[in-house]
Amino acid sequence: MVDFAVVQFGTQTMPIRPKQTVADLKELRALTADEHGAQRVAWTDTWLRAREWFAGKLESFPVTREIDAAGNAWFTLKGASERALVLGGHLDSVPNGGWLDGCLGVLASLEVLRSISEEYEGQPPITIRIVDWADEEGARFGRSLFGSAAFAGNHSIEADRIRTDKEGTTLEAALHRCGIDVSNVGACIAQQKDAAAYLELHIEQGPVLERMQIPLGVVLGTKGVERHAITFHGQEAHSGSTPMAMRHDALAAAAKLALEIRPIAMKHEDAVATMGSVKTFPGIVTAVVGRCETTLDMRDLDAKVLAEMLHEAQQASERFAAEEKCTVEWSQIWQIEPVPFHPQLLAFADTAVKEVAGTSHRLPSGPLHDAAEVARAGIPTVMLFVQSLRGLSHNKLEDTEEQHLEMAVDALSRLAQETMEWIANAPTE
Ligand SMILES: [Zn+2]
Repeated sequence: MVDFAVVQFGTQTMPIRPKQTVADLKELRALTADEHGAQRVAWTDTWLRAREWFAGKLESFPVTREIDAAGNAWFTLKGASERALVLGGHLDSVPNGGWLDGCLGVLASLEVLRSISEEYEGQPPITIRIVDWADEEGARFGRSLFGSAAFAGNHSIEADRIRTDKEGTTLEAALHRCGIDVSNVGACIAQQKDAAAYLELHIEQGPVLERMQIPLGVVLGTKGVERHAITFHGQEAHSGSTPMAMRHDALAAAAKLALEIRPIAMKHEDAVATMGSVKTFPGIVTAVVGRCETTLDMRDLDAKVLAEMLHEAQQASERFAAEEKCTVEWSQIWQIEPVPFHPQLLAFADTAVKEVAGTSHRLPSGPLHDAAEVARAGIPTVMLFVQSLRGLSHNKLEDTEEQHLEMAVDALSRLAQETMEWIANAPTE
């Protein structure tokens, strides 16, 4: 039996005030940044102060506040239906971070919730929730997407609880100080209940939109990652006495691979491949390299493309090892599947962006985001990107034109309106 009722929505746009979001961002910066940039590292006092400040912004709304078992902060505006539109981001930053990464999503969500609350006099047709994910950056303990992964049921808390920061504090102790019991983190999957869609606005953190001179983009999904350690084994030998033709030079084989991964990736429009680390042994000026340890990080939105790139890189490494009379050994460091976003929400996002900016561009995200974890939990998800100046992020030079920030808030609001309507009119079991 399907319970289906068409909910009528007003035709006028919601009273959104994008300039307020920019003012809020500046206020947060003044509260939590020093001369080196934002200092809202998760589980620190500055982060807690930012969260209290944010909660204060919602005090005058009919909203309930809850910190879940993984430390994610939820603000709920109850609607006629329990089914919820979730809007979010993360207030935590890297040390010496920028003024927009993560908090733009949270503060834009605040403005959208405020306008919905006003339009429907505190009782929207569906429930609206804001989530401030805990420890997206993983800057202190090396575990990114902490809260959103726990939400999605993908936490790795038994391995993570003993992680330590630079001072030797364990993750377990840092969470305890913030009122979070590590043993109970998995219970936060309860927050999935009634979540019908998730929207997140974020800065691009890359140069693509700026180069295209487009303010806003629609994110297709987050790229899958294949990350491997590749070690070439040759023979250490004296640099003076070993003739060129008789060498087993592990660095020569690695260097050939470092160049070869470029054409391997460039066959595909959005694929990237990076050899980010090379260590040579014995690593002295008078020895042929006997062992060379490298890393390879490859990303694409298409799992087939990623698998093909990995296969080609492996074949190339064998070929170069043989040419240099070496051997090669691979071991996987980490891997994650690509996460495509929801087709209907992509279409809504395109419309919203076109209305505001005149043109829309779809692009994949290279960095991972909390939204990827939400999508992995099976909740329809989409993200909007706003242009980043010079493509810079994770430092104090991170910036976006204010006019573009305002357009982004406007687009998120329009997307939220469409998505609310979609949720309200979707058949329920
Ligand atoms: Zn972020």
